[in-house]
Formats: sequence, C-alpha cells, structure tokens
Amino acid sequence: MSTAFHGAKYCWMDGAIIETEKALVTAMNEVYLGIFEGIKAYVAGDVLGKGRVDIFRWESHIERLWHSAAVCGITIPYTREQLLEATRETIKANEFTTNVYIQPRLWPKSSSGRFVAKEFHTLIPIWNFNTLLGKGNPRFSEKTRTIVSSWRRIPSDAMPAQAKCWANYANSALAAREAARLGYDAALFLDSRGFVSEGTGACVVSVRDGKLITPPVTASILESVTRSSILEFAPEDLGIPAEVRDISRVELYASDEAFFCGTGWEITPITSIDGIPIGNEQHGPLTQRIAEYYAGILAGNVEKRKNWLTPA
Ligand code: PMP
Repeated sequence: MSTAFHGAKYCWMDGAIIETEKALVTAMNEVYLGIFEGIKAYVAGDVLGKGRVDIFRWESHIERLWHSAAVCGITIPYTREQLLEATRETIKANEFTTNVYIQPRLWPKSSSGRFVAKEFHTLIPIWNFNTLLGKGNPRFSEKTRTIVSSWRRIPSDAMPAQAKCWANYANSALAAREAARLGYDAALFLDSRGFVSEGTGACVVSVRDGKLITPPVTASILESVTRSSILEFAPEDLGIPAEVRDISRVELYASDEAFFCGTGWEITPITSIDGIPIGNEQHGPLTQRIAEYYAGILAGNVEKRKNWLTPA
C-alpha cells in the first residue's frame, strides 16, 4: 500500500494525527448516513507568504458542516476551533506548501447502531489538489461537453440536498457515469420540477446579455460557497449583475456562456450542453473575468476579499 494518498502521508482522525494508511474503518461498517465538507487552501500569492497556505472561506464551510450535521441528526464531537486547529496540524505534519483540498468527514462507527448511529469517527484527510485556474488554465483549454442527465436531482423532501451528505453523491455518481458512458465530460441535473438544478459536484451559472443567472436554493442545490462568493463579488467588485432565479432547460441552451462553480471545479466553462454549442465552444469573456478575479482572491491578491482567507 502506498504511504501517501495524493501526497498525504498523515491525516487527522478522532483527535490525533495518524499515518493516512492507518486511518481505517471496518468494511463491516454500514454507511447509511454520514456527512463531509470540501474546502480548499491556497498558497499565498505574496512573497512574504510564500510557502504558507490560506484556507478559503473556512467559516462558511464549517458552518455548512454543522448545518449538514443538524439536518442529519449528527453531533460533531469537536468544536469548530478544534477542527481548524486539527486542519492546521495536518497541513503542518504533511509539510504541504502546495494548494490542498481539505475534506472533514463524519463516518458512523460500526458499533453504534444501523440507521440510528450515534457515534461518528471524525476524519480530516488533506491532499494535494492543484488549482485549475493557475498557469495554463487546464479547464480553459479543455472542452467540458456536458449533458442534461436523465437522472433528476434528488428533491429535498426526499434527501437533504442542502446538506453535504455522502448518500447524495450516489445521485451524482449515476449522472456522472451516464455522461461518461455516452462519451461526455460532465452532467448537470434538472430538479424534480424540470428546472435547472446543479452539476454533480458544482453549481451552474448561465450568462445572458451580460448578466449572471444561477438557480435558487429551492432548485435542490447545495448552498455552494463558491456560488455565494460569486454572487457577492461579481456585482460588488466587478459591476457584473447577478440574478438568482429558476432557469429552464431551453433557456440554458440559449446561454451566451455557462460555467460550473465549486470548490473543486473552481470556475469550469461549459462548452456545450446536449451537443448544443454554448457561445463559440470556448470560455467566454465574462467567465474569464470571473475566473481571473476569483484566482486573485484565492491567492490573497484582492485586498477587499482578504477576510475570506484564514491562515493555515
Ligand atoms: N453542488 C454539489 C453537489 C457539490 O458537491 C458542490 C461541491 N461542494 C457544489 C455544489 C459547490 O459547492 P462549494 O462551492 O461550496 O464547493
């Protein structure tokens, strides 16, 4: 077995730093309900900060973890401050000086009940995860040929779509596998009403007539930290108007530009939907502006948004 998981020799589990390969839960353990969070930390762009990483919107992500826990009836056995300290310790133990992905996980303990598990392992795996917005902009030179999945996004009266619950990702996996099977790069969902919802692990933004449009929380989306950041900085800092409202499938096809946004996907231009080209099948000018500004925020180069960064 490799000693490092994507460069992560150590992780934090139940109160201590341990070797990643020793972070084990038994396969006899049924995983019906568990939650996680997905956070990124970026190498500070200024010279003084070189070698240091800053966590993007720690408070918002950790609030969402607590919200996910509340919805699922899970008690997190640590405080927010303890998890921040654990995250810092794990980054230090791994000697990370690259951009990293931080994924706090609550995993039911096998002995604590089937559907009504009361005790949960708390894990913080952290691994190397380079930005897609950096040099060469990989996501900007690639095509992201997207389909509208035949699977609908789970309605939030059936599953907690606004919680980052592992089980929700079975729905995502079905759509992603459908896209792969049909030879596409990505999938997005309609909600149970037939309006645009979100991607498999990212939210969706349509650009029409110089304005950003993104579906509301009631369209079964995860309340994305990236989406809410864009909704704040696009109008305030860049003068780009942004609107939250339902989008029909046909309207989405008619987008001038469209992109996915999320912690992992960052800003990923959608180049076609169901074979219909979006714009000229390349990232459009507004997507590029948003992506460049967002990259600046993440690198700590935007004074006004430095309060979105927490030193790790
Ligand atoms: N929707 C889903 C289903 C996701 O998994 C994610 C990634 N966390 C997002 C949207 C984007 O959320 P965020 O910007 O907070 O990463």
